[in-house]
Amino acid sequence: MSEEKFYYQTEAAELLKMMISSVYSNKDIFLRELISNASDALDKRRIECLKDSELAENTDPAITITSDPDAKTLSVSDNGIGMTRDELIQYLGTIAKSGTKEFLKAAKNDNAQNELIGQFGVGFYSVFMAASRVEVVTRKLGGADTFKFTSDGDGSFTITEAEQRSECGTTVTLFMRQDDNPEDGAKNYLDEWTIKGIVSKYSDFISWPIYFKDKIINSQKAIWQRPDSEITEEEYNEFYKHLTHDWRDPLTHIKINAEGSTNFKGLLFVPSEAPFDLFMNPESGGISLYINRVFIMNDCKDLIPGYLRFIRGVIDSEDLPLNISREILQDEPIIRVIRRSTQRKIFAEFRKLLENDRDNYIKLWLAFGKILKEGIIQDPEQAKTLLGISLFRTTDNDGWTTLAEYESRMKPEQKGIYCLAGRDNLAALKASPKLEPFTSRGYEVLLMTDPVDEVILSQANFILPEDAKDLLNIARDDVLPYSEDEKKANDEKLKELDADFEPLRKLALEAMPGKLETVRPSLTLTGSPACLRDAPGGMSLQMENLMRSAGQTPPVQKRTLELNASHPAVKKLVEMAGNNDPKTADILRVLYEQSMILEGAMPEDPAGFVKRIDDLMTLALRDG
Ligand code: ADP
Repeated sequence: MSEEKFYYQTEAAELLKMMISSVYSNKDIFLRELISNASDALDKRRIECLKDSELAENTDPAITITSDPDAKTLSVSDNGIGMTRDELIQYLGTIAKSGTKEFLKAAKNDNAQNELIGQFGVGFYSVFMAASRVEVVTRKLGGADTFKFTSDGDGSFTITEAEQRSECGTTVTLFMRQDDNPEDGAKNYLDEWTIKGIVSKYSDFISWPIYFKDKIINSQKAIWQRPDSEITEEEYNEFYKHLTHDWRDPLTHIKINAEGSTNFKGLLFVPSEAPFDLFMNPESGGISLYINRVFIMNDCKDLIPGYLRFIRGVIDSEDLPLNISREILQDEPIIRVIRRSTQRKIFAEFRKLLENDRDNYIKLWLAFGKILKEGIIQDPEQAKTLLGISLFRTTDNDGWTTLAEYESRMKPEQKGIYCLAGRDNLAALKASPKLEPFTSRGYEVLLMTDPVDEVILSQANFILPEDAKDLLNIARDDVLPYSEDEKKANDEKLKELDADFEPLRKLALEAMPGKLETVRPSLTLTGSPACLRDAPGGMSLQMENLMRSAGQTPPVQKRTLELNASHPAVKKLVEMAGNNDPKTADILRVLYEQSMILEGAMPEDPAGFVKRIDDLMTLALRDG
């Protein structure tokens, strides 16, 4: 029989080395991983056989654990879908998981490496914590050949043809490490009670029977069918890990028990952190659909709106036909009912968490708030609810606030909620000159740092119900914290000033052709000399940046440069412009460029900007 030798990719080899040297971590999980894989393989076989009845083999699906203390071997066998030769190489020969590199980096910097490795979802590779050698013998459903994969966890593996398996499926045999000494506290994984203990702790809910010594050792009870009071937090966490292949505990779980015209049960989880690509493992992403406890499909997108795509879990209904397919799901009225009530339940649970466990809700918000907020735009019916459970940064404190909390602090004369969007950098947004007229008068402003916020602000009028407080974008120049009387008085003063500004305006428009709508004095800025304002209905600099980074060319935007009439530099500039001082144009340009920087944008001509600053410095130093 020919034998072929392969080498693991570098990351896999590195990870294997780490696995082997990890002494104190939770080794038990290797058995959980093997059982999970066997269970997935049985699910897949069931689905394949439904599609093609010719494939059905006349055996009862089962997972079998065998231990041989004399040979020091432990095996986990299933008669599931099995693997072809290519699949063996692809699935067991490469670590496809995204996040492996990041994990390795973290593990290297961390003294608690052993702890970490026990938590990282390395799946199949975890066997090398307990075994010095692994053999996998497998035959694919409907295939004729049986193959054997062997690895000593030393960076390479071999594939050979093997003796024909009588039925499809996979047997993983571990040759246990001899150096694991029970006297050092190492568990004996060949011991009956150890095996039973691990299965009942981590794999009890597996829906397929797990045999050990001809007896079934798991209850096979679907965890979502059991009363909440019977289930420990740990069981929920283990089920989540089985389902998602995440190695961390979930942030929270949500149980749904809907009875009435449509019956269904659900067990949903919010992960503790956003995965690197939001769907770390597409096969196990989203929500799995079960019909009457029978697994139907993973990642059932019709069960949940796109902006809740970070939620994982199971939904099980008795009311759906077993032969349902992905294609017809969307039009199935029961699915629509399930979707609506699931969504409602999720929002209610989020609200509860927000009210009762703010710290955890903040974690949820940090991880998934950006995604959840997409719903405000995409799902107008839910916009109000979603805004109600949204958290915002504010000028009032360093924490988070809800709209309701903001409203409770609002001054009586305030017509709406003052908001400023832009920059993904909170500290920079807090320094925006646009805040000055508001904060100097004691008004609180919400600071919005997600890209979707600008869209929310521009559409607030359409998406908010009549009775909701307006979201007022203070970047617009018609939003000011003044009473009508004050505004009138201001306008009058501005008119007087405007004549003095004429030479300055002319100079600026000439110096920066096509950039500026106009230049005008401002009485609202209190500290900064200048600030840029978008045209009403125009695009912000932040939006322009977003478009550019998406490869699009934004339409040309002309902005208004506001100059603080009481700022000494501006007063001097007005004078200089009146005297035709040649330095005026350059200083105006610097003010414009500085304002851009404060908006989070790069001056169009950075080298020119630096040169202008250099010249000004040289002048200042010479005169000083
Ligand atoms: P994960 O299970 O998280 O995908 P693993 O490293 O545990 O990662 O397994 C990698 C892949 O190998 C699985 O996704 C599956 O396709 C395949 N595999 C593992 N064990 C089995 C098995 N018992 N039967 C069939 N395929 C398996």
